[in-house]
Amino acid sequence: MLPALQSPDSTPEHPLSPATSVAVRVEKRHRGTTFPRPPSIPAALQPEPDGQHQQDEDSDQQHAQKQQREQQPPQQPETKTCTVFDGFFFYIYFSGQVLSITPNTQEQVEILKNVSTQFEVALQVYVMLPNADEIIKMQMRNDSGDPRSGSTFYYRYHTLEDIYDWINRTANDYPDKVKAILVGSSYEKRPLYALKLSLNNRPNKKAMWIDCGIHAREWISPAFCLFFVHYLLSFYNVNTEITQILDNMDFYVLPVMNPDGYKYTWTNSRMWRKNRSPQNGTSCIGVDLNRNFDANWCTTGASPDPCNEIYCGPFPESEPESQAVANFLRSHKESIQIYLSIHSYSQMLIIPFSCTTDEAENHSELYEMVKTAADQIRRYYRNTYTYGAGAQIIYLAPGGSDDWAYNLGIKYSFTFELQDRGRYGFLLPPSHIQGACNEALLAVKTIAMKVMEKPQAATGSRQAGPAA
Ligand SMILES: [Zn+2]
Repeated sequence: MLPALQSPDSTPEHPLSPATSVAVRVEKRHRGTTFPRPPSIPAALQPEPDGQHQQDEDSDQQHAQKQQREQQPPQQPETKTCTVFDGFFFYIYFSGQVLSITPNTQEQVEILKNVSTQFEVALQVYVMLPNADEIIKMQMRNDSGDPRSGSTFYYRYHTLEDIYDWINRTANDYPDKVKAILVGSSYEKRPLYALKLSLNNRPNKKAMWIDCGIHAREWISPAFCLFFVHYLLSFYNVNTEITQILDNMDFYVLPVMNPDGYKYTWTNSRMWRKNRSPQNGTSCIGVDLNRNFDANWCTTGASPDPCNEIYCGPFPESEPESQAVANFLRSHKESIQIYLSIHSYSQMLIIPFSCTTDEAENHSELYEMVKTAADQIRRYYRNTYTYGAGAQIIYLAPGGSDDWAYNLGIKYSFTFELQDRGRYGFLLPPSHIQGACNEALLAVKTIAMKVMEKPQAATGSRQAGPAA
């Protein structure tokens, strides 16, 4: 169908192997911009010299890439020059190399034009990770369903079955603190359980919602939700900030919002992104759940094509997974004051809006929060996170859960993109889970503390931002 630029969704599947799929980072520039000619890496894609550790990491990365180049000449794409079409340049930067895409058909042009995020779109382009199979095997290794196997449980990736088991155990182990709430079910009828952490019965408590795993292949996301719940329960009455937060705030944590897709990434196709619902009139499967919410639904930055990675679905909340979350938030909007969705990769702390270039009504307040969180991460972990409104720092991405939650009246609404910045992308090795989770935890703590400092805001009836 699309010989050179197939979406992995329509790729003939090789179980567990995305050997010919790579996560790509696409740089879009408007017509008229002056460019240096490739093959040098465009300045915009050079590592940012912003912090000693980052420099170290980049040096380390460059060294590894140099070694890799020396040991194993990379497979080169047929076309190595920069390509202009329809007003845009498209670069692909991966593993230290810049590649370009030359679309051969109008259909391919449309795919590229629909690339709306720098970090979430995987195109089958070239073999770029010669050891991708090994990295995937490493991710699936040592999976153990027993949380009692120690804290290392949280520094590994887990199958969907083990995550369900963990949810049950956690609810059983903390019967007075944790409840598993069934918020809905997936297309394939898998239950969507959110854990409610409530450490006391104080009246009028604020609450925070966190969902993980909207996008199936972003394995670090469910790993964070598990880590986060474990951390809160372990450090209540131990860590001052955690105690203060839990004394004043309940948490709803949905570890896997897209269980069908997550299961599929373990059994069939590691790079699967969407859910698994069949679509009328096509053999292409799945809707991008983070384009399926009613926030400027299916406008620029989403696709009406069921075969596209960012397919918005036939109508807003068409999918049982997004509908379940939307219904839960609607019915709890009086108490939930913070919405957070966890994704990967690219290290970003994102605030509304992604569905429009308009600024959120409380943009400065939100911006200050993510800036402080990013500063904290840099200070404690010497790692760099970009922050700001989604449409400003990435691209237009309509139909996202964070913008929808914001428009519902949850004025503290965020999306985090966890590690890394493209070295491994979605295939983040287990050895990086701890670091990624600690950084996100610090950002959550920072934001929760800041929201707690605010006077209790009225929720529910507020009309915030532009109409969805
Ligand atoms: Zn995502």
